[in-house]
Amino acid sequence: MIDITSPESRAKFYASTKWRQLRLSILERDNYECLWCKELGKLNDRNTVVLEVDHIVELEHHPEFALDPMNLRTLCKNCHNKRHKRFEHRPSKAKRWDDEWFGY
Ligand SMILES: [Zn+2]
Repeated sequence: MIDITSPESRAKFYASTKWRQLRLSILERDNYECLWCKELGKLNDRNTVVLEVDHIVELEHHPEFALDPMNLRTLCKNCHNKRHKRFEHRPSKAKRWDDEWFGY
């Protein structure tokens, strides 16, 4: 099982080749479109937004699904931030979340 119990180990996970490759395959699978925006009828793809790959069940609680494509989906940065309510915690530090890899 993947160790993601500390911020260091999570950073390592997000930097791993395995994750980087899987992340790309998820983006491709989802056509490089934000799934939430798409549901709302807004097309946001890599030309208009920053896309990130989200763990549907949180990595921290379910490391066994860390690399399970069924547990991954493409969200744009805005939707992803909303999902994790990052704006509420760090309104002035939004820039830190450029990539999910930096976020945990
Ligand atoms: Zn979105």
